[in-house]
Amino acid sequence: MRIIDAHNHPDWLGHDFTRMLENMDKNNIERCWLLSHICPRNEHNVIYNEVMGGAVLGMSDGPVPFTRCLSYKERAPERFILGYSPDPRDREACRMLIAANKIYGAKICGEVKIRTMYDSPDCIRLFHTAGELGMPVVMHFDYDRQTTYKDPWTEWYGGSIHTLERVLQECPDTIFLGHAPGFWIHISNDELWKTNSYPNIEKDKIVPGGEVVRLLRKYPNLYCDISAGSGRMALSRDKKFTKELLTEFQDRFLYARDCFDNSHQELLNSLDLPEEILKKLYAENALHLVPEN
Ligand SMILES: [Zn+2]
Repeated sequence: MRIIDAHNHPDWLGHDFTRMLENMDKNNIERCWLLSHICPRNEHNVIYNEVMGGAVLGMSDGPVPFTRCLSYKERAPERFILGYSPDPRDREACRMLIAANKIYGAKICGEVKIRTMYDSPDCIRLFHTAGELGMPVVMHFDYDRQTTYKDPWTEWYGGSIHTLERVLQECPDTIFLGHAPGFWIHISNDELWKTNSYPNIEKDKIVPGGEVVRLLRKYPNLYCDISAGSGRMALSRDKKFTKELLTEFQDRFLYARDCFDNSHQELLNSLDLPEEILKKLYAENALHLVPEN
């Protein structure tokens, strides 16, 4: 079965180019969407300078500059699909996205992970441009959790689940992939989002009627990126629920990691899904959004 990892980064979590290819081979991953993460240095996670390479290389447009994505792509063009998102607040962001698409062949607008509301005029303009270019947008959502890293500095990205709905309404011709704790905590219709970034997968069973499900039913331009602990944990809370969800939306969930372990494959393979659905989740949906040429 073909496997495409629809969310990963270069020089991330102890992996350089060689280690990343070795890891992809080990996990039968044919290709990977290689996403940048561009934001001012004082906006990204306080631990990132320890687990991402951009700052070590003296790059200010990090923690994952597009130049590092491009370096991997040039060395193994058949293994990587380029993602790039400028900071939408940059006055030239739309022109830069066009240049990345036209010159370097960037196919995905992402990862968008900045401390601003994603329904701001700057973001909406960039997302319209991404839609015109046929680039799906990968968005990281996080609620403000002042205690996560015991740091007075707060960590929020994008706004709330209602911000996401406004974005989906404003840009019906752009495909969006929901990702990260602030998105996945809404898989369940409970109050957990007010206090927790991550659920307890043993205790926090799914309450039907979650916003993620409502938005998927209402907006055909919403897709789901199951990467990282947030996606994996959301889909581990109630496997019967997950199986039904992945069956209903078998065309709109994408296998993705944002890490280098195999836990997301283990999860998908444990659900007893028909092979034709697994094929969609593992590669066909990604290929539908970013066709091979
Ligand atoms: Zn993210």
